[in-house]
Amino acid sequence: MKQTVYITRKLPEDIINTLSLHFHVRMWKEENIPVPRDILLKEVEDIDALICLLTDKIDEEVIGRAPHLKIISNVAVGYNNIDIAAAVKRGIQVTNTPGVLTETTADLTFALLMATARGVTTASEALRNGKWGAWSLMEFTGQDIFSATLGIIGLGRIGEALVKRAKGFDMNVLYYNRSRKQDKEQELDIHYAELNDLLQKADYVCLMIPYSTEVHHLIGKEELSLMKPTAILINTARGGLVDEDALYQALKNRDIWAAGLDVFEIEPVPADHHLLSLNNVVTLPHIGSASYKTRMSMAQLAVENVVSVLGGGEALTPVQM
Ligand code: NAP
Repeated sequence: MKQTVYITRKLPEDIINTLSLHFHVRMWKEENIPVPRDILLKEVEDIDALICLLTDKIDEEVIGRAPHLKIISNVAVGYNNIDIAAAVKRGIQVTNTPGVLTETTADLTFALLMATARGVTTASEALRNGKWGAWSLMEFTGQDIFSATLGIIGLGRIGEALVKRAKGFDMNVLYYNRSRKQDKEQELDIHYAELNDLLQKADYVCLMIPYSTEVHHLIGKEELSLMKPTAILINTARGGLVDEDALYQALKNRDIWAAGLDVFEIEPVPADHHLLSLNNVVTLPHIGSASYKTRMSMAQLAVENVVSVLGGGEALTPVQM
């Protein structure tokens, strides 16, 4: 009998067709609405594999309802939406999609940094709203990027890809990582700094670490108070790394210059979210990996993980536990 795969969001047809050759496939067919919790709980009852997105909370309850489940294949590199301990306890393999999205996410991170530094969205909105008066010496002035100091928190795949972009702008790069990477320092011409030291010295602070409860609100009131008044915070990692209330106050009081945010603590954010009311914030709806080619590669890799594990083989990209 064919094994059963459930997919929590509409995937491209070509990709589903490959999967359907091997398995019985069911899918939540909406593109922009996550599968409701009650439907998810029902759908997992007889499945062998689950392909899910970062919007799906795969916790102990979901796992407990799926007695035959062998693999949870997340279409994302971050996997803080999955209760890894509960999966391990049941011997379920968890996989993610590292690597295929590295360069695309680094591109977006650098684009957000540049847009925030130069107030690109605010200036553009002013023009559209008829607020472009006479050319002014100091209006719409932002911060320079070239030769500035970039502080990267988390020198992993994306952090390292960011260094390459920064070096093209003659930036001085500091990094903080839980394990110091001395081999990379010479190779990439970067310097290690402890977290507080990096926060004090950097003109741009970029968060590039995974979210877990240990790093919840890593950047809070105290950390923001260490940053320069001209500094900019960029977060394309996960929203939970930043205390949003503390960030709001720091931006409102101009304790820091600006922030560029692709991720939020609770997504999607409502239009009346307090951070959206500030004109020194550039916001995006979690589009770090959103190029057509990369999203296709992520879906493809998620499917290949399922094909391999249900076929009795090894996962291609297991989450290291
Ligand atoms: P990665 O290669 O695993 O890199 C993560 C780095 O962070 C590693 O160097 C790791 O150090 C370091 N790290 C982990 N926990 C830390 C801690 N508590 N303190 C200091 N450093 C720590 O991951 P990646 O592929 O670069 O992705 C990074 C994150 O970006 C993902 O987890 C995801 O949340 C986010 N992301 C967002 C988007 C988006 O659409 N906005 C897209 C892709 C990824 P070790 O070497 O010691 O493990």
